Amino acid sequence: MFEKCEAIVIRATDYGETNKIVTFFTREWGKVAAMARGAKKPSSRLSAVTQLFTYGYYLIQRSRGVGVLQQGDIIDSMRATREDIFTAAYASYIVELTDKITEEHQRNPYLFELLLQTLQYMNEGRDLEILASIYETKMLSVMGIPPKLDYCAICGRTEGKFSFSIKEAGFLCHRCEQYDPHRIPLSAAAVRLLRLFYYMDLSRLGAISVKEETKKELRSVLSSYYDEYSGLSLKTKRFLMQIDELKKVSSSRKHQAESESGNG
Ligand SMILES: [Zn+2]
Repeated sequence: MFEKCEAIVIRATDYGETNKIVTFFTREWGKVAAMARGAKKPSSRLSAVTQLFTYGYYLIQRSRGVGVLQQGDIIDSMRATREDIFTAAYASYIVELTDKITEEHQRNPYLFELLLQTLQYMNEGRDLEILASIYETKMLSVMGIPPKLDYCAICGRTEGKFSFSIKEAGFLCHRCEQYDPHRIPLSAAAVRLLRLFYYMDLSRLGAISVKEETKKELRSVLSSYYDEYSGLSLKTKRFLMQIDELKKVSSSRKHQAESESGNG
C-alpha cells in the first residue's frame, strides 16, 4: 500500500547501476528510507524528486527496512541551495546532523518544521552561519543534552556577568567563575543570542545582524559543547570549516585587490 507524505530528502545514495536509496524526513512518520528504482537515470521521473534537499509530496510504500518510492511532486526544489557551494555546504551539514540524531519511524513534526524552515531560509539567501547556530542550539534539546541558559549553573542566580562552562553545561555567573578555569568568556550580546536561539520560534525570525566577533563566540561555545556532549563527528561539519576558511581568504584577497587598485 502506497501512502502519501510530506517530506524532505536528507540523504540519497546510489544503489546498483540505476537505483538510489533515499532517506526522507517526513512530517507524518519521521525518518524513512525508500528505494527509488531507476532514479539515477536522468530520464527517470524519480530523478529530480530524489535530489538532496528537495521538499515535496511523496508516495511511499513503507516497510520496516527500506520501503519503495512510487512517485514525488516537488513543492520546492531548493535549487538556489544546490547551485551555491557555500549554501550547499551549510544545508548538507543541517541534513546530516538531522540524519545522525534521529531514529527511523519516530514522528517529530516539530523537528520537521524546524528543518524545513531552516532549509528554506538558507535557500532564500539568509545568514547561513546564524541559521546553522540556531539549528545547532535547538538540536541540543532534541538530543537530550539541554544547556542551562536561564541561570548560573552553579548558584542559580539570574543576574550578573555570564561566561559559558562546558563542564557545567551552561552559563556561569561572575561570582562562580572559579569553578571552571576553562570557562569561555562571553559578551552580553552572545549571552542574549544563545538564549534567544534556544527559545525563539524560528518562523518568526526577523532581520538579524550579528557582529563577526559575536558569531565567533557562538561558534566557540557550540562546537565545544557538541564535541563534549553529542558524540558526533560529521564529515559535512569538517568540510564546512574548510570552506569557511576558503571564504575568509578569498574575501580578504578581494579587499586587498580593491584597495590596491584604489591606490593605483
Ligand atoms: Zn553563580
